[in-house]
Amino acid sequence: MTAPDAPLAPRLKKLIRQDVQSMHAYAIQDSAGMVKLDAMENPHRLPAALQAHLGQRLGALALNRYPDGRVNDLRKALADYAQMPEGFDIMLGNGSDELISLLAMACDVEGGSILAPLPGFVMYGMSAQLQGLKFIGVPLTADFELDEAAMLAAIAEHQPSIIYIAYPNNPTANLWDDAVIEKIVSAAPGLVVFDEAYQPFSSRSYIDRIAGHSHVLLMRTMSKFGLAGVRIGYMIGPKALIAEIDKVRPPYNVSVLNYECALFALEHQAEFAAQARDLVEQRAQLLRALGGLGGVKAWKSDANMILIRVPDAAKTFDGMKARKVLVKNVSKMHPLLANCLRLTVGTADENAQMLAALKESL
Ligand SMILES: *Cc1c(COP(=O)(O)O)cnc(C)c1O
Repeated sequence: MTAPDAPLAPRLKKLIRQDVQSMHAYAIQDSAGMVKLDAMENPHRLPAALQAHLGQRLGALALNRYPDGRVNDLRKALADYAQMPEGFDIMLGNGSDELISLLAMACDVEGGSILAPLPGFVMYGMSAQLQGLKFIGVPLTADFELDEAAMLAAIAEHQPSIIYIAYPNNPTANLWDDAVIEKIVSAAPGLVVFDEAYQPFSSRSYIDRIAGHSHVLLMRTMSKFGLAGVRIGYMIGPKALIAEIDKVRPPYNVSVLNYECALFALEHQAEFAAQARDLVEQRAQLLRALGGLGGVKAWKSDANMILIRVPDAAKTFDGMKARKVLVKNVSKMHPLLANCLRLTVGTADENAQMLAALKESL
């Protein structure tokens, strides 16, 4: 008998894919006792009265039953919230991360590939790798704009099955030039997915332009909206296309607790809209303050995060952490992000603490 905590035996190791063995598990930073500004969470909680009301609703659910048709009430409520056009349909995921995986699974045909600008959201590349599809990363310009010529050349060369456009992008927080985006949509031989995780804070959405296309999907999540703990992502696209992708979705992927919480939040969407307005105002104040900090470059943002460059990212990150402020050091994610940190926009109080820690840690 070997102990259960012994290293994996060679005969069992053989069963696990080599590339999976070489991977690092997604690291979640320990944030106990910290001002947590590393993961684009909405810092606001529900007001106490709404918490109590939600608790009653969740307590009364039939947890002994599988999720039922009420999940369709959530699909309808989200379609209304997003102003989904006629002829389109909506599917739900356990977070948009699940939808990204399902899309790679559904599109796993011989020679299939996924293309996205870099630096970008890590799950696009990871979903390709895990599904055995080729991933093509196309570098942004030094100022994090789309490199039009490089994108169009890569699309022509690789004929990708899926192109991801994070709109706004993570971790750079910006929206890209609409004229370039239209050229990419026109040039795409396969699907184009607009990932609008930051829609509540963004000045533009592609939903206005989706109706004219049969190959464009729009993906969103309730995570940055204020329900990161609930895990609800959704994807809108032409009916026939959504019908195919929905076949690979595990039945009951959205729990009764998830959908009831999400429905509750949409019933109180004015509350969440007010929180988003506050964060957009906080973002403007933060950008003004960062603009006055010597040695710090901050990029414009359409999300609830701000990308900055400092003289020494590791030193600043460690200094801020020692002062109990947790941000994300993205400086090793991609060469274009050298010495960059990603700051999540928090409450006025959290942002003041973050700025003070940043100044002392430069
Ligand atoms: C946070 C994020 C997601 C993931 O959202 P979940 O719904 O929490 O899985 C997807 N895309 C982008 C660009 C993100 O930043």
